[in-house]
Amino acid sequence: MMYAGLLLILGAVYFFWKYPALRKTWYLPPRKGLAVLMYHHISPTCVPDQFAFTLTPEMFEKQLQFLQERRYTPISERDLLHARKTRQTGKITRPVLLTFDDGHEDNYTYLFPLLKRRQIPALIFLITDKIGTPGYLAWPQIQEMHQSGWVAFGSHTCSHRRLRSLSNEEIEQELTQSKQILEEKLGASVVSFCYPFGAGGFDKRVRSRVLKAGYLLDFSTQKGINPWPWTGKKSILRAFPRGGETLWDFHLQLTRGRSRL
Ligand SMILES: [Zn+2]
Repeated sequence: MMYAGLLLILGAVYFFWKYPALRKTWYLPPRKGLAVLMYHHISPTCVPDQFAFTLTPEMFEKQLQFLQERRYTPISERDLLHARKTRQTGKITRPVLLTFDDGHEDNYTYLFPLLKRRQIPALIFLITDKIGTPGYLAWPQIQEMHQSGWVAFGSHTCSHRRLRSLSNEEIEQELTQSKQILEEKLGASVVSFCYPFGAGGFDKRVRSRVLKAGYLLDFSTQKGINPWPWTGKKSILRAFPRGGETLWDFHLQLTRGRSRL
């Protein structure tokens, strides 16, 4: 009898280890606050090895619909800055901010029309060395999106290197040069920054330099829900809706900051 019980426990452990998709976070208490979602590609075709990073336009639109039905408020970078400055939430309840890393060209082709049609703001992080290279956004596209008022842009460094492994001088160059280039081309100040390689990509040394370079908002890939209104004391946590996830996963992302462990 005891052996059977032990076998059952071992079997369950193995099963959950083998299939991470089963390790859902429904049993964690839901949290109120600001959910910041991290996306990469929105595309009907998937780049090899990028399955988790690619959502089809259909799935992405279902998520937008879900936000609307559940009365979430998609906020803009400006709303977040305003909340940070005033420490007030205004009339915004159930806030959610959509962010897109790396500046892929499909953000213009598939994401931008959806944002315009549904009047939803987004924040895209650009790697300045990649702008205009195959597969990435080009300046005319970036400028058109910026002028529409629905898309704000932040820096994701010049070269997408792991900042923690760079010298102070190299870090400062990545931070200030990318900021300068973006500000010059957009004719607007750039105050959002996103760490390459997220969770393991930064530490105190790196973060202090990000703030010193003039950025007001720093986005990580550490998972969770942020306090609302945002205080700016820590890096911003983000939830990561992966390709192939269901709307139940999406609900978990929005309320737990992660869909699985
Ligand atoms: Zn990146």
